[in-house]
Amino acid sequence: MIFVLGIDAATWSVIRPNLSRLNNFQRLCQSGKCKELVLTEKPISPSVWCSMFSGKTPEEHRHESFVVNGELVKRQDIKVDFIWDILHREGKRAKALNVPFVVPPFSFGVNFKPVGFGLPTNEGEWEEELYRVTEETKQLLWEDLDLLISVYTFLDRVQHFHWGEECVFDWYRRLDAKIGELVFDSNFLDSGQNELVVVSDHGFCAFGEAKVRTLPEKTSEGALKGDHHENALLITVNVDYDIETPQDMFRAIRGELG
Ligand SMILES: [Zn+2]
Repeated sequence: MIFVLGIDAATWSVIRPNLSRLNNFQRLCQSGKCKELVLTEKPISPSVWCSMFSGKTPEEHRHESFVVNGELVKRQDIKVDFIWDILHREGKRAKALNVPFVVPPFSFGVNFKPVGFGLPTNEGEWEEELYRVTEETKQLLWEDLDLLISVYTFLDRVQHFHWGEECVFDWYRRLDAKIGELVFDSNFLDSGQNELVVVSDHGFCAFGEAKVRTLPEKTSEGALKGDHHENALLITVNVDYDIETPQDMFRAIRGELG
């Protein structure tokens, strides 16, 4: 099985200096390759997640915003085949959970109601998403799948509201514990056959430090403290393909399950 664990907005700039306090990230770095995915395109979530799982560049898929002309963009508005569509057609078993290229996040082959319509805004909802995505993913890891993709979205929201505050690290620590449950407690990596990718769609930095500003300074929910950075997180275990662009994620999976 290939397991892709997406963590929207996870960034090495928080993880790397704190690796000694993030045991499971540290274990992952010891068992696999820890790299950066450096985006040359605009580091915006809908577009990058879409590229990763469709293999198309932003120019090709043309999906760059959650909202167009005041309406939420839906899966069927995006004229691409995703990796799960292709594998499903070929009779392979692929499932996707909570993938945030649209709002609410998209699931395939899984009945999952996203927390807070996919835009969790407070501590209770962040906690709930962390818990529910983890529990659902654990169940799915037991199934005999060829591909499982699961994504946490809450960290992007935490960082937009609290970047620079102590609580941001607390959320990385909670996430680290859940990664331990998913990857290590499940013995997923014990089978040399299984492959793991942990990836984010962009990194994070203080507002105004990013090469490309992706958001306004103020939203209806208040002032924003952080913005997207072009350096995204990438950890691979047992994956031969060199992933250097979001589209390479698609190619890596396709190469294994083609
Ligand atoms: Zn994002």
